[in-house]
Amino acid sequence: MMNIDDIRTQFPILDTEVHGRRLVYLDNAATTQKPQAVIDVLTDYYSHLNANIHRGAHHLAAVATERYETVRRQVQHFIHARSHEEIVFTRGTTESINLVASSFARRFFPGDDEVIVSGMEHHSNIVPWQLAGATLRPIPFSDEGVLDLDAFERLFTPRTRLVAVTHVSNTLGTVNPVDEVVRRAHAHGVPVLVDGAQAVSHLRVDVQAIGCDFYCFSGHKMYAPMGVGVMYGRQEMLEALPPYQGGGEMIEDVTFERTTYNHLPFKFEAGTPSVGDVLGLGCAIDFMESVGVDNIAAHEADLLRYATDRITRLPDVRLYGTSPEKAAVLSFLVGTAHPYDVGTLLDQLGVAVRTGHHCTQPVMDRYGIPGTVRASFAVYNTRDEIDAFIAAIQR
Ligand code: PLP
Repeated sequence: MMNIDDIRTQFPILDTEVHGRRLVYLDNAATTQKPQAVIDVLTDYYSHLNANIHRGAHHLAAVATERYETVRRQVQHFIHARSHEEIVFTRGTTESINLVASSFARRFFPGDDEVIVSGMEHHSNIVPWQLAGATLRPIPFSDEGVLDLDAFERLFTPRTRLVAVTHVSNTLGTVNPVDEVVRRAHAHGVPVLVDGAQAVSHLRVDVQAIGCDFYCFSGHKMYAPMGVGVMYGRQEMLEALPPYQGGGEMIEDVTFERTTYNHLPFKFEAGTPSVGDVLGLGCAIDFMESVGVDNIAAHEADLLRYATDRITRLPDVRLYGTSPEKAAVLSFLVGTAHPYDVGTLLDQLGVAVRTGHHCTQPVMDRYGIPGTVRASFAVYNTRDEIDAFIAAIQR
């Protein structure tokens, strides 16, 4: 069982006062707060361990390298990858998807290329494919926010090169049936990228069970520092892709005539990585595993049920995203009030939410609205905080 008081004491920022009230932080889909242990890892790294990894002969470089590579194996086990060589460290989901889009396009886009995405993608799973030259074919979704898998089937053409879908929608909260999406795409011989930015902190992720070819996520949305993320790729797929960026570390041998590339995963890790942030990611995984991912999921499901029940009793509140499979996100509008005004008033009462299109403009177009107010939950939130949030909306 989770001890919520114990968990909250691990997050120093939760004691912050905002406009004379204790902070109620419900903007977790944008970024989660960090436990003290993660903050300490950063200070400790820069106080006692700072060194560039992989190429130093000295003690600090050896220890930093060993810790960095240990986190790679931790991530491997956390998402159930087959090999640590399938784990590439990046700056975050955005860089992970850009990496795949750029390398995949150079290898597998002969011209006249189509990528199937869902209609609820974050801009970072739309624009990289456009930059790579693809025509996008969006999977429609219902008013509740459920993907139309029959329509999905009809989107495949001989020019379909890849399917790129989000595991959990950051705006609607929908948990998409990514294993079924993969099964259908693979039946057409098409690989699949899953955007896991909103999934890893809420659900147990098993990339082998999902069967996807790529899985991308950010550390900062799962209690780790900003500046680190992961691109998981199936080994055969990563072997087939050309490097993304060129520079140090990703090479085996360089001459002015010709360069050969390092083996996986280093082929995709050009230049100096954010070592301290990677160690922080390892610490965040320790934190999540000490609480238990299933316990986190159950706690957040309880908060979501409670908040949904309370908010739907309020007059004039409309929810966006009511899929039966949903995680930790509540998007809504109040009467004719602009979402930004609602967010500003909630802030005056100490409640931090996000307002706007949440980097999902096509979702807003789908509903014909300019944006929503979004409350999103994490392991340290409580029913008392939901009460404060509801009272603030009533006010
Ligand atoms: N994908 C989804 C579903 C997201 O919610 C986000 C961030 O909100 C991203 C991608 C981009 O993540 P980052 O800004 O950490 O690269």
